[in-house]
Amino acid sequence: MYKPFDYLRPRTLGEAIAALKQEGAVALAGGTDLIVNIRGGKVFPELVVDLKGLPELKGIRKVQGGGLWVGALTTMRELTTNLFIQKQYQALAEAASVMGCYEIQVRATIGGNICNASPGAETGPVLAIFNTAVEKFGPGGRQILPLEQFILGPGRTALARGEILTGFILPPPPPPPGSGTTYLRRSRIKGMDLASVGVAVLAGPPGPDGKREIRVAAGAVLPTPARVGPVEDILSQGPLTPERVRQAKEKFAEIIAPRASSLRATPEYKKKVIGELMEMALAKLSALEYRIEEVALI
Ligand SMILES: Cc1cc2nc3c(=O)[nH]c(=O)nc-3n(C[C@H](O)[C@H](O)[C@H](O)COP(=O)(O)OP(=O)(O)OC[C@H]3O[C@@H](n4cnc5c(N)ncnc54)[C@H](O)[C@@H]3O)c2cc1C
Repeated sequence: MYKPFDYLRPRTLGEAIAALKQEGAVALAGGTDLIVNIRGGKVFPELVVDLKGLPELKGIRKVQGGGLWVGALTTMRELTTNLFIQKQYQALAEAASVMGCYEIQVRATIGGNICNASPGAETGPVLAIFNTAVEKFGPGGRQILPLEQFILGPGRTALARGEILTGFILPPPPPPPGSGTTYLRRSRIKGMDLASVGVAVLAGPPGPDGKREIRVAAGAVLPTPARVGPVEDILSQGPLTPERVRQAKEKFAEIIAPRASSLRATPEYKKKVIGELMEMALAKLSALEYRIEEVALI
């Protein structure tokens, strides 16, 4: 059973910050996590501060000198359909397009997805491979911090009381030709479900020696969505031969720490599937030196 609460829709960022400083105040964006949690009796706010009237959290803009600013209120649907994101930050459009269903995608925001800080948050691994920085505003003013310093653990972020996530700054991805990004995931059912395992991969253009920069981030297998440096190190050492990829898959399974209590998949499943997904992602980006047969992953 939920308790009655007050509702405020501020018109300025200052008003929103002042309201969120109050004890028991929570921010509302699309509400697809918050309202579910209020109805489920997990959160008992005294004041719900609706951010949707704040222009400072809206829009997708190119940053001077390269890169992109994505407002916290940007919905999954906007990410999926934005032509610039489809072209330059393809993995982000892909992650947004597999989230929930159409009705969720038109409400759920990227800011809410990251503030909810679920280990399986769909946009988490993708923002990680783009080396995204998070912009927040609060009583102390504006602050920019790397994504990995913003998501601190399951359900925990670096937001202090009164602070609002306003947007994300995505540096430019490696230039074409030969570079690309993708996001692949597995869930329990073909319909609507959160990811059991998710992997985002960025492949830079190949050098003359066949080496390329490879960034890999995982979702739902670590306490926070994050890049996996030891796996990237193996993959970036030389051409992606079957042996190098086998070593990287082994390392991936070794360093992830899936929860045994997960409702979606066992640790054994996740350890097996994460490497297969990474290999499929590399194949999709034409980064492999060999062809792989398509495998059925259940
Ligand atoms: C049916 C269903 C299916 C779903 N499927 C998926 C899925 O496949 N993948 C997935 O990752 N998630 C999924 N979700 C979860 C949810 O839709 C996402 O996490 C979504 O992105 C949350 O965004 P929101 O705008 O709705 O956040 P809200 O519910 O409004 O907020 C979430 C949390 O973030 C805080 N918050 C939001 N915005 C800000 C801000 N700008 N500054 C400070 N705090 C803020 C809120 O106070 C709250 O604590 C699903 C949810 C449902 C109900």
